[in-house]
Amino acid sequence: MLRPGDTIGILGGGQLARMIALAAAPLGLRCHVYAPEAESCAFDVCARHSVAAYEDEAALAAFAEAVAVVTYEFENVPAATAAFLAARCPVLPGPRALAVTQDRLTEKSFVRDLGLATPDFRAVDDLAGLEAAVAALGRPSVLKTRRFGYDGKGQAMIRPDTDLAAAWDTIGRKPAILESFVPFVREVSVVAARGRSGDVVAFDVCENEHRDHILAFTRLPAQLSPASAHAAHEHAARIATALDYVGVLAVELFVVEEAGGDRILVNEIAPRVHNSGHWTIEGAETSQFEQHVRAVAGWPLGSARRLGGIEMENLIGAAIERAPAILAEPGAHLHDYGKGDHRPGRKMGHVTRVKV
Ligand code: AMP
Repeated sequence: MLRPGDTIGILGGGQLARMIALAAAPLGLRCHVYAPEAESCAFDVCARHSVAAYEDEAALAAFAEAVAVVTYEFENVPAATAAFLAARCPVLPGPRALAVTQDRLTEKSFVRDLGLATPDFRAVDDLAGLEAAVAALGRPSVLKTRRFGYDGKGQAMIRPDTDLAAAWDTIGRKPAILESFVPFVREVSVVAARGRSGDVVAFDVCENEHRDHILAFTRLPAQLSPASAHAAHEHAARIATALDYVGVLAVELFVVEEAGGDRILVNEIAPRVHNSGHWTIEGAETSQFEQHVRAVAGWPLGSARRLGGIEMENLIGAAIERAPAILAEPGAHLHDYGKGDHRPGRKMGHVTRVKV
């Protein structure tokens, strides 16, 4: 259990670390951000920072010495880094959450073994394996690298006319999975926290709209039957409990419509605070960032009650130039991550509108 004045270590220095640090301060906690990039936007708002590689054992040892607990803002923390730190101080969420979620095959198998629905999938290790998997699952289907895929990277659609050798080249001939294509009507996610004592508190299910494979909008309430919304919360609780998880996680889901109503399938688990939870800063009684801080500190979780109708819009690339207009808009909450130069596809900030 942390005490006021203690320091939380965060691996990764992007906007998620920045918003965790901003949430820790009012609770009397400090943050020490560790990232390899000297220009990390989280450095602006934390008490201390280290610029070092995730493989630098001397820097990692000093970091572990300086903090009461280590958490992270991204799921690709190298396993060796997590293990090295975990031998010296608590790492939350634990290394098992990373091991399960870093690999799409492990992740989907874990979810299926919990009895939760996922798209049908097959492991693919070579071109012959891809041919066999496509024969089994049919077309269209989606080929994804097992590791290091995000925002649509490391993916290839297998359409009726797709040449399989070309698709295998597109994803770099890396170990992969093939998933059956899900004709979803919408994408939703659940952001939930699990505390050190095992209690789970989930935010309302939110609806996500992607453009060019990047989250563009999150809206609440989601268009979803009460039964599916309840199931989504149950899924998040089952996953968090099975991982013995401490902290905030997000479960991304596909919603399909069938004769009897809607049904949900698990697409992905993010073992961290999530872009689809940014609305909670102004739109919920406790933000996902504060909830994460409370959880890793061993403190009671806060209320996840939603305060109104929500629209969160990501400001990607040049969209950050709309900041002056957004500032002039009554009730719009602007977040500029302080990254400086914008580039196409770069998440520069977001704006949340709450209709009470
Ligand atoms: P992912 O990186 O797995 O979250 O996939 C990125 C996006 O690709 C998702 O948000 C969906 O829009 C789409 N997608 C991924 N997997 C499937 C699938 N099995 N069926 C249909 N669309 C998918």
